[in-house]
Amino acid sequence: MMLRRLRFLARWVLFYNAELVWLCWRLPRRIPEGVALPPETDARRREAHLRLGEATAACAKVCAGCGRCCLEEVDRFTPFDQIARRATAAPAPSGDRRIYSVPWMIRNAGLHALQRLRPAAKRPVPPSCPHLTPEGCGLPRAERPMICVSWFCLTSALAMDRAAMAAAEAPLREIERIHREAARAARQ
Ligand code: SF4
Ligand code: SF4
Repeated sequence: MMLRRLRFLARWVLFYNAELVWLCWRLPRRIPEGVALPPETDARRREAHLRLGEATAACAKVCAGCGRCCLEEVDRFTPFDQIARRATAAPAPSGDRRIYSVPWMIRNAGLHALQRLRPAAKRPVPPSCPHLTPEGCGLPRAERPMICVSWFCLTSALAMDRAAMAAAEAPLREIERIHREAARAARQ
């Protein structure tokens, strides 16, 4: 179990997110309007979101009690979501690449480090994602940005048991594949 967990953490917390930063960095600065994956790809994405939701039910409980990931005024829809959904009846409603930008991450981490110097009661609460409601995310799971369904922090990953990690593997690979396909399409 310990080995399986370490492998999951290395693969889906470290490597996967580093890969997304790398793929985003390699995207052209301006992605032509016509760059889009076929609608069948988005059907695969939707299916993967739903399967991953079932596999990660234990994480959802942990996340509901934390909510940290739904704070910060940064768009979670990225160029990958835009390219995957552009040719469908439900295109991504917005798009930004800051979430994968290393300078933004450094700046954001620095800002939070500075804020932690202040007494807890005086620390500002970061603004929340515009899709956040008092009941949690206002978007159905299939409509959420890919990063929102495929991101794990250490705490959420540790909430998964052996069966959950095994069930999450295939949909995570599918979402990773779609990111790669979107990156390839944008660079052609
Ligand atoms: S993934 Fe981690 S940091 Fe994000 S909401 Fe869940 S428990 Fe909190
Ligand atoms: S889209 Fe939903 S899950 Fe993603 S950050 Fe916003 S509220 Fe959270």
